[in-house]
Amino acid sequence: MGTRKSLGRNQALVQMRATKKDLNNGLFKAHLYPKVDRYLYHMRLSDDVLLDVMARFQAEMVKGLGRDTNPTATVKMLPSFVRSLPDGSEKGDFLAVDLGGSQFRAHQVKVFDDGKQSSQLESKFYPTPKEVIQGNGAELFDYVADCLLDFMETKNLKHKKLPLGFTFSFPCKQAKLEEGVLLAWTKHFKVRGVQDTDVVSSLRKALSKHKDIDVDVLALVNDTVGTMMTCGYDDQRCEVGLIIGTGTNACYMEEMRHIDLVEGDEGRMCINTEWGAFGDDGALDDLRTEFDRELDLGSLNPGKQLFEKMISSLYLGELVRLILLKMTKEGLLFNGKASTALLTKGKIEMKHVSAMEKYKEGLSNTKEILTELNLIPSEEDCIAVQHVCTIVSFRSANLCAAALAGILTRLRENKKLLRMRTTVGIDGGLYKTHPQYAKRLHKVVRRLVPNCDVRFLLSVSGSGKGAAMVTAVAYRLAAQRKQIDATLAPFLLSLETLREVKNKMRTELEYGLKRETQASATVKMLPTYVCGTPDGTEKGKFLALDLGGTNFRVLLVKIRSGRRRSVQMYNKIFAIPLEIMQGTGEELFDHIVQCIAEFLEYMGIKGARLPLGFTFSFPCRQASIDKGTLVGWTKGFKATDCEGEDVVDMLREAIRRRNEFDLDIVAVVNDTVGTMMTCGYEDPNCEIGLIAGTGSNVCYMEDMKNIEIVEGNEGKMCINTEWGAFGDNGCIDNIRTKYDKEVDEGSLNPGKQRYEKMTSGMYLGEIVRQILIDLTKQGLLFRGQILESLRKRGIFETKFLSQIESDRLALLQVRRILQQLGLDSTCEDSIIVKEVCGAVSKRAAQLCGAGLAAVVEKKRENQGVEHLQITVGVDGTLYKLHPHFSRVLQETVKKLAPQCDVTFMLSEDGSGKGAALITAVAKRLHNIGQK
Ligand code: ADP
Ligand code: MG
Repeated sequence: MGTRKSLGRNQALVQMRATKKDLNNGLFKAHLYPKVDRYLYHMRLSDDVLLDVMARFQAEMVKGLGRDTNPTATVKMLPSFVRSLPDGSEKGDFLAVDLGGSQFRAHQVKVFDDGKQSSQLESKFYPTPKEVIQGNGAELFDYVADCLLDFMETKNLKHKKLPLGFTFSFPCKQAKLEEGVLLAWTKHFKVRGVQDTDVVSSLRKALSKHKDIDVDVLALVNDTVGTMMTCGYDDQRCEVGLIIGTGTNACYMEEMRHIDLVEGDEGRMCINTEWGAFGDDGALDDLRTEFDRELDLGSLNPGKQLFEKMISSLYLGELVRLILLKMTKEGLLFNGKASTALLTKGKIEMKHVSAMEKYKEGLSNTKEILTELNLIPSEEDCIAVQHVCTIVSFRSANLCAAALAGILTRLRENKKLLRMRTTVGIDGGLYKTHPQYAKRLHKVVRRLVPNCDVRFLLSVSGSGKGAAMVTAVAYRLAAQRKQIDATLAPFLLSLETLREVKNKMRTELEYGLKRETQASATVKMLPTYVCGTPDGTEKGKFLALDLGGTNFRVLLVKIRSGRRRSVQMYNKIFAIPLEIMQGTGEELFDHIVQCIAEFLEYMGIKGARLPLGFTFSFPCRQASIDKGTLVGWTKGFKATDCEGEDVVDMLREAIRRRNEFDLDIVAVVNDTVGTMMTCGYEDPNCEIGLIAGTGSNVCYMEDMKNIEIVEGNEGKMCINTEWGAFGDNGCIDNIRTKYDKEVDEGSLNPGKQRYEKMTSGMYLGEIVRQILIDLTKQGLLFRGQILESLRKRGIFETKFLSQIESDRLALLQVRRILQQLGLDSTCEDSIIVKEVCGAVSKRAAQLCGAGLAAVVEKKRENQGVEHLQITVGVDGTLYKLHPHFSRVLQETVKKLAPQCDVTFMLSEDGSGKGAALITAVAKRLHNIGQK
C-alpha cells in the first residue's frame, strides 16, 4: 500500500516536472525535495543572480581587453588575428587537424565559390592515447604529424601542396594568425615542454620530417573561432562562437579600437575570451559550493578554469558523483551505503547525467546507471538522483547563458544598437547530446537579454572545418589584398616621383613667364597688376563680389586704418543655378547684377556709388588691374560667349542693362590673390596665395624682371599661376591613373586642368567613386554588386572623404555615409573604402605640396638666399576641413624644399576681404595718379 502510494506521488511529480519545469527553472518546488535542495540550494541561481554574473563577466572582459589590466586579468581575451568572416567567395582545398576536443581528427575541406556556400568535408578520427596527451611535446606533435600523413595517404593527397588550419583548443597567445604560444594546458591535457612555446612551429617541425608531404600551416585556430567561422559560412550574421563540450569557451567579434593589445583601430577581430578561467581570482567564490571546491582540488589544474569546472562536460558527472557521495554518507541516499564505484573518481560521466535526465524514459535509465555503480537505489533514490543531475546541469546552462548574455550585450553596445539581431554558432557534446541543455540555454539567454534576437546555429561539422574556413578566408584575404594593393599602387608616389613633379612644375612656371614660350605654356602665369601688399593705411567702404566656386557672394567691406585698424564685413550668399552656370554669358551676368541689386537693397546702400572689387576665380589675362579677359572656364562653369571677353566689361554692361544703380569697378581679382592679400595684411612676409577648395591654384609675388610680358624691371608683381592646367601638355601623364582619365573624360572640360583634377575638391570624390566602381567590378567590394547609386556622377562628394577619413568610431560613420549613399557595406568594405579615400587624398596633398615646393624654391632662388622664410596664405575647404590634407601638403613641401621655412597661414575669407583690400590699394594709387 505504502509502496503504491509513493509510486503514485512520484508519477505525479514526474508529470509536474514536465509542465512546471520552465516556470521553476526546471526545478521542483523546494519543499518537495527538502533533502536534495538543502544540499543544492546554492546551485539554484535566480535571474537576479544571473544578471549579476553577467555584469561580473562584462567587467572581466573589459579587464582582459585593457592594456594595463590585461596582465592580471583572469579572462584573457586573446586576440585571434581572425578579422573577417567568410563571405562566400572562398574556394579551394584545405586541410585541418583538430586537437583539444573530445576526439582528435583530421579533415579535408573543399570549398566552392558557387554562390551556394557549399563545401565538402571528409574527416577521420584518431585516438588520443593517454601517453600522448600526458607525455612530452615532441611525441605529441610527431603523433599529430603521423596521423595527418596517414590521413593524406588514405585520401590520396600526398603529392598535393595544401594549406592547413590547425585547431588547437587551448589558450594561446597569438601575435599573428599562424603563431600561438601555449599559455597553459586545460581540460585533460598535460603535455610536458609545450607551455610557453609556439605550437605552430612545433607542428611544422614535426611535419617537415615527412619529406613526401608538402603542407603549409597557415592558421592556428581555437575551436570557438572555428565554430564561429563554420557557422559564419552559412549565416553571415554569426559573430559569436560557443563551445560547451569537454571544455567551455566563447569567442566573438570585438571592435579593434577596444583591443589594446593589437595595433590598429579599424574593423573587428575575433577575441577568444577563454572564459573558462572566469572566477580564477575568486570572482565567483560566493557561487561556488563545497562540491566545486572538492572537484577542483582533485583536478589536473587546481585553482584554474573554475568557471569551466562548473559548466563543462568533463566535470559535471564528477560534480554529481561528489554530491551523491556526500548525501549517501549522510544517510540520505541508498540507505547510507556507498559502493566502491561511487567512491571512485570519474565513475559518473556526462553521458550518465544526460541519460538520467531523459525524463521521457522515466526513471529506468537512472535506475540502470545506479545499479551499474553497484548501488541499490529505491524509487525515491532515483528521483533524488535525477533531481541532482537536473540541478547540476541546469546550473551549467544558467552560468553559460549569463556569460553569453554579457558578450551579446557588449556586441550590441559596440554597435550602438537598441535592438540587435545576431547569430551564435555553437558546438560541443554537452550542448548537442544532453536532452534539455540547448533548450534551457536558449530560454535563459533570451530572458537575460530581451533586446537581442539571437539565433543559435549548431555547427554542423565541428571545429576542424572551421580551421579550414579560417585558412580559406586568410587565403581569400591575401588574394584580395594583392588586388587592392595593385589597384591603389599608382596612387603611391615615391619621393623621387614627387621630386620629378616639382621639377616639371618649375619648368612650366618658367615657360609661362618667358616671352617666347608663354603663348604655348600650359601654366599660364598671368600677371595680375597687383604690385604691392597692403600697408595698413587703406580705409573706406568697398563692395566685393566673389564668383568662382561653390557660392556666389556679395560683400560690403569696411576697412579702418590707424589705431583702430580693422576690417568689418557683411555678406550674402546667392546660389547660382546650374542652368545659369552653364547658360549664356548674358544670363550669367544679369543674374549677378540681380544679386547685387538685392544686396544693395538689403543693406540700404543703393544710392552710394561704392568702389567694387570683383573676385573672379578663373584664368584671366589682364592688361591692367581692372581689365581681365577670360581665358577659359574651369571647375563647374561653362557659360557661352564669355571666353575671350573682358569680364569687367561684361559686368558693366549688365549693370547698364539693368539701369538701376551704378558701381565703380576698380579691380578684378583672382581668389588666390585675394587670399595672399588678406594674409599679407596681417603678415608682410606673405607673398604666396594658395587655394585648395573646389579648384586648385597658386599665386605669388614675382620679380618684375622675370615677367617678360609686362614692361618694367622694377619691383614685383603678383602672378596668378593657374597651375591647375599643369599637365595639360601631357607632362605628368606618367602618374595619371586610368581613374584620373575617366574623371577627366566625364568632366565639363576634358583634357583641361589635369593637375587640378588630381588635387582639388571638385574631383577627389569622383576619383574615389571611379576606384570603388572598379574594385566592385573586381569583386572586392559590395559583394561584387555595382549598386545603382554608385553609377551617379558626383554622388561621392569630397566632403565624404573628410568624414570617412576622420572616422575614429570604428567605421560606424563610414558605414552610415555609405548607407546614406545607398551602399550596403560590410565592415571589410568600409575598411577598403577608407583606404581608397586615404590614397586619393594623400596623393592630392602630395602633388599639391610638390607644386608648392617648386614655387617656394623659385622664390628662394629669386632672392638669392640660402634659406628662405616665407608665409603662404591658404584658403579652401579641402585644406581647412580635410583631416590630413594640410599636414601631408606641409610635410611634402618640407621634404622637397628643405631650404625653405614655410609658414602656412589660414586666410579668413580671402576672396571677399582680399578683393576689398586690393580695391582699396588700387583706389589709393589711382587717386595719387590723378593728383
Ligand atoms: P571654393 O573653392 O568653391 O571657393 P571652398 O573653398 O569652400 O570654396 O571649397 C569648396 C569645395 O570644397 C567643394 O567643392 C568641395 O569639393 C570641397 N569640400 C566641401 N566640404 C569639404 C570637406 N568637409 N572636406 C573636404 N573638402 C570639402
Ligand atoms: Mg573660394
